[in-house]
Amino acid sequence: MGKEVCAAKRAKVSVMTLASIPKWGDACTRERCAACHQPSPVGFHVPNDVWEAVVHPSLRNSILCLPCFVSRADEKFIAWDEVIGLYPVSLRTVLDRRVALTTQQAGEKG
Ligand SMILES: [Zn+2]
Repeated sequence: MGKEVCAAKRAKVSVMTLASIPKWGDACTRERCAACHQPSPVGFHVPNDVWEAVVHPSLRNSILCLPCFVSRADEKFIAWDEVIGLYPVSLRTVLDRRVALTTQQAGEKG
């Protein structure tokens, strides 16, 4: 984890605005799938009944990537294509949101 080279850091993307983030290790990646541990560049949402039918209880409160969700849904022969909503997430957007959240939290403490 700690030895992972951060793409944003390497590219010197907004390093100044990221200075408030306490841990680079958490800040440099997109959300990771709890099943395959790969960063997930495309987020999605499905209705709760579909999520609960597809995803094992041990993973329901975690993040799954689209391929992991799809393979589980198809294994169970559950139709997901009509109800899924997709949203692409760039690394920049993830980092901007975390900066905003960190700033907000710092404001609440002070
Ligand atoms: Zn996955």
